[in-house]
Amino acid sequence: MKFIIQPVALVFAVSFFPSIVPGPFAVDAHAEDRPEESKVVLNPYATVDWESVEHHKAALHVHTLQSDGLHMVREVVHTYRDAGFTILALTDHDQVGPNFRVPEGEKGSYYPKGPRPENYPANTTWPWTDYGTEAPEELGMVGIQGAELSFRHHINSLFTPYGTQGDYVIARRMRTHGEDDQLLHVKATDGLAFINHPGIDAGWWERKPLKWYVDLFGEHSSDYLIGMEVTNGNPSWEKYDEGLWDQLLVRFMPERPIWGFGTDDMHRMEDYHQSHTVFLLDGLSKEGVREAMETGRFYFTKSSRRADLRQTEKLDEFPAIERIDVDEAAGTITIHGSGYDTIKWISAPQSTEAREDYETSNQPWPTGRVVHEGEILDYRDTPGIEHFVRAELFRGDGEHVHRTFTNPMGMSRK
Ligand SMILES: [Zn+2]
Ligand SMILES: [Zn+2]
Repeated sequence: MKFIIQPVALVFAVSFFPSIVPGPFAVDAHAEDRPEESKVVLNPYATVDWESVEHHKAALHVHTLQSDGLHMVREVVHTYRDAGFTILALTDHDQVGPNFRVPEGEKGSYYPKGPRPENYPANTTWPWTDYGTEAPEELGMVGIQGAELSFRHHINSLFTPYGTQGDYVIARRMRTHGEDDQLLHVKATDGLAFINHPGIDAGWWERKPLKWYVDLFGEHSSDYLIGMEVTNGNPSWEKYDEGLWDQLLVRFMPERPIWGFGTDDMHRMEDYHQSHTVFLLDGLSKEGVREAMETGRFYFTKSSRRADLRQTEKLDEFPAIERIDVDEAAGTITIHGSGYDTIKWISAPQSTEAREDYETSNQPWPTGRVVHEGEILDYRDTPGIEHFVRAELFRGDGEHVHRTFTNPMGMSRK
């Protein structure tokens, strides 16, 4: 009997679920018919002890006078520390020399006036002590060596000295050195990378199609290409980044996480974008930050209001996450937080098709759909959850919105 039943069952399965196509573009159109099989298979917060965990604010994409920022390294470092940040990566553009933009009436940066460090012009603004400030540990901070790789698609590289500034072969590299090469260099130097501001709307940038990102995240492992900036706080630079994130998550989760980062891409203190990442650590250490970065043990924030980073009393309060509990027996995910109006749960977009031209449209792909609102998500009884679910705590004050985003949970029906 088995020899007869099996082929019949196979034909039946194929004809009953004709839209199931393996591969990164697969969308299971019939999945809503059987939501009771849903499981959380990837929870980036699974190891957090919420009673004792420390929330550490991080600025991971920051410029100084060592590239096209407008402030000295020392002023930048001290301002972030005074604003309550304990984790800081100075990510100057690797192909932009120091003093690209010196404010009128000011002298320019600590370098290149001298004495110049041996590695001038360095790929990375590191160590901080070469640039007239204290070492991070003296300030009670974790400093991360890194750069914004800027020849092609901007890429944040962290925990690595890699860059191309020192080589002085920009013209040649522009033709021969692509994103894949750069990411492989980051990998070879034991660094981590995430891509920056994909939806940037600037004269010097040609936007990439969705397939380009799918290929990039398919080609490079999550061991070193860990995610993407979902917000860098600049409204004209992040037009479709949330939509892109959801489009990538529905294709790659739960097998390959793409963690979301919030940065402020700071160039000018008085135009601070109020977007940052918060790491969940069992005490502050460089190793702990790196491990949390690799495993998604963090969340990020964004406000639509700009501020002056030096006026810390005027910085926004963001919706706070106090704990995130997954109850597999009950089939629920619960977020305990404060300072929010609502919690939205977001999963697969309605469609994985482009609906407008990515080169000209700011919303070329549908963002993920809101499948539920409220602090408890009953993921077995909520239709529309496909491959991932993420949450957003939202507060509006009439004029501005303040949002806190979780990383995605990986969901499976198997
Ligand atoms: Zn950039
Ligand atoms: Zn930047």
